[in-house]
Amino acid sequence: TTQTIRNSTAVWRAADTRHHLHPFTDFQGLAAEGGSRIITKAEGVWLEDSEGARILDGMSGLWCVNVGYGRERLAKAAYEQMLALPYYNTFFKTATPPSIELSEKLAALTPEGLSRVFYASSGSEANDTIARMVRRYWQLAGQPARRNIISRHNGYHGSTMAAASLGGMQPMHELDGLPLPGFHHVRQPYWFGEGGDMSPADFGIAAAKAIEDKILELGPETVAAFIGEPIQGAGGVIIPPESYWPEVQRICKAHDILLIADEVICGFGRTGHWFGSNLYDIKPDMMTLAKGITSGYLPLSAVMVGDRVADLLWSEGGEFAHGFTYSGHPVACAVALENIAIIEEEKLVERVHDDTGPYLQQQLASLAEHPLVGEVRGVGFIGAIELVTDKASRGRFNPKGRAGTLCRDHCVKIGVVSRAVGDTMVVAPPLTLTREEADELVKRLRLALDGAA
Ligand code: PLP
Repeated sequence: TTQTIRNSTAVWRAADTRHHLHPFTDFQGLAAEGGSRIITKAEGVWLEDSEGARILDGMSGLWCVNVGYGRERLAKAAYEQMLALPYYNTFFKTATPPSIELSEKLAALTPEGLSRVFYASSGSEANDTIARMVRRYWQLAGQPARRNIISRHNGYHGSTMAAASLGGMQPMHELDGLPLPGFHHVRQPYWFGEGGDMSPADFGIAAAKAIEDKILELGPETVAAFIGEPIQGAGGVIIPPESYWPEVQRICKAHDILLIADEVICGFGRTGHWFGSNLYDIKPDMMTLAKGITSGYLPLSAVMVGDRVADLLWSEGGEFAHGFTYSGHPVACAVALENIAIIEEEKLVERVHDDTGPYLQQQLASLAEHPLVGEVRGVGFIGAIELVTDKASRGRFNPKGRAGTLCRDHCVKIGVVSRAVGDTMVVAPPLTLTREEADELVKRLRLALDGAA
């Protein structure tokens, strides 16, 4: 009965509040609000909570459930692999069929030259691996002074010490005095917020030039790599001006610096291309993959290593003294293979590119007329809605972000998941979202905006 459901929800909430320290959460604040919303089931793009409410998941969980919820094929792939071989490591000269097949598949899917894979279980671990691998590369290349890594303010690369140092999130740095030595940050290509009177094209060049300024300040002979998300996701869906990535590539080449694309969000179809690097014609030396690689059904990440780095590690490196118990986990790899097969068979990348992506962007764009909205931007199945107090001056609501309140108070009531980043609402629905569901998503976002106006 409804009463029993309510009672068990209350009991769960109390237990959760008492015992679980949630990530990126104000523990006391959550308790004061009565505890967590408890999600019990999901199908397609719809979540269901413990009280039976249906919620349209405009965020694919945490930007990861690319093929949508409820995929029996993925459950079967995991089940069958667990029975055949639930675990074996890939240390000490052993491999498993799923780890072999997935490596071959990823080498074929990713841009040319990225033909080798190092596995981990999360985006954070993969980026940690990259920090170590690029420094090792430069040691072997006879330039051990190249240890500095440059990334962007407001970039997100994960939560381990090295990944949080790579990232440019101020509150994460303040938590315990990061970044670690050797990690440096430059401005983000955020035209709406920081472009001032510049055209997007000029601003894109200026934002890229900040990388060159930093390289010259540090001394090019000390710089190992630049890492960036093709589109910054957690930083607020920062779509760079077209001029940005070509200039970044020119700069990295001119100073012989490794270019790394963090494709944790952009990868596996999110932008209407297999990878964000395909969208912007980026030719990275290394690439980070996670999230959409398994559509979040199991934890898995991968570092794609280009020939330049891999060949030297291979020929001169000896043992690469790094790895994780779950590197190349056979069940996670089996699920990744099946997930990629679904994306291919259902032509999800093509659908987002040609059909549902442009349609969703067109519908989202209609929100720009709302009095609270300063800009709507996006590509494929990733988008952002900037809230303002005044459209002309792009006046911010408040530094704490009104979007947070809007998402928490109004989206929840209306039954839609959108995430707040400062004053920006972001969306990244499953790639399976239909046109009708896109209409429903935008309708609910408009209702939430109306509620907050
Ligand atoms: N890189 C990017 C671009 C991400 O968005 C994230 C997570 O949101 C990470 C890395 C970290 O991944 P994980 O949370 O799996 O450690």
